[in-house]
Amino acid sequence: MRDNPISPTISFGQDGVQHGFLRLPYSRNESAWGSIQIPITMIKNGEGPCALLTGANHGDEYEGPLALVGLAQTLRAEDITGTIIIVPFMNHPAFLAGTRVSPIDDVNLNRAFPGAPDGTPTAKIADYFQRTLLPMADIVLDFHSGGKTLDFLPFAASHVLDDAEQMARCRAARDAFNAPFSVEMREIDALGMYDDAAESLGKTFVTTELGGGGTACPETVGVARKGIHNLLIHAGILQGELDLSPSRVLSQPDDNCFHFADTGGLIEFSIPLGENVRKNDDIAHIWPVHYTGRPPRTIKAQMDGILTARHHPGLVLPGDCVAVLAIEITE
Ligand code: ZN
Repeated sequence: MRDNPISPTISFGQDGVQHGFLRLPYSRNESAWGSIQIPITMIKNGEGPCALLTGANHGDEYEGPLALVGLAQTLRAEDITGTIIIVPFMNHPAFLAGTRVSPIDDVNLNRAFPGAPDGTPTAKIADYFQRTLLPMADIVLDFHSGGKTLDFLPFAASHVLDDAEQMARCRAARDAFNAPFSVEMREIDALGMYDDAAESLGKTFVTTELGGGGTACPETVGVARKGIHNLLIHAGILQGELDLSPSRVLSQPDDNCFHFADTGGLIEFSIPLGENVRKNDDIAHIWPVHYTGRPPRTIKAQMDGILTARHHPGLVLPGDCVAVLAIEITE
């Protein structure tokens, strides 16, 4: 396969703190020999485990970037054992535009894996992570939240995996992150996800959904900061005691978790995030917006569960995922 065109301005083998860029050539009308510069920090202190920490895989999700720029600015090499690679703005063009997918090629980085060295800019970023950064890592943390169109209970997640040993490793790392909720997560559409790329390489992988609505709040940024610190202690990279609070464990057993709108309109939720529903309870009503005098469409719970995610904007379109339920696991 061809070499990836991205060149790092830092040296991966070197001890100390390095701040630089992943430089991706991007020739365009405004800049003939221009490039996309994705900020990267590498902190290395001798031999030891390597953690790869990423934010803004989707450009409109902010807890990860906020926690990671703070970490990159403050952490010193002598504080750690091993290596930390920090990429706070993974899809930098999408982040600068405040959009989920890249404005350059309309590609969702988290559906672009394994990527291609000769593809669009987003495919090139995916290929660089797939073949250069992921292979360096032992533990991978990718921050997400709901972005502009979803809102989530704050949770860290691991996936159901075929390899029981790897699944236990991922779950232990998720539990060390210690968000208010810990989810065994099901994906609607796992094909092309960074999650799947990391897990397929055998990595310990943790992801999050920490809120949403296209903004961040002090509580969810606090969850992100504490989670990173705990995860780095869990990985043996930082010294110290885990800061643990009670975390409610949720699972998404099957596709009945996902509730889709079959009609567009103005959505009125019947319950807030975190509320329990029983099967056939009302979750939301979708009011028609082109006429009056007709009843709303009702979204009913397809299972017993806790409202874990909801559509954020007031208007919905047919096919939108409007609600996600999960069941609580009490051990
Ligand atoms: Zn996301």
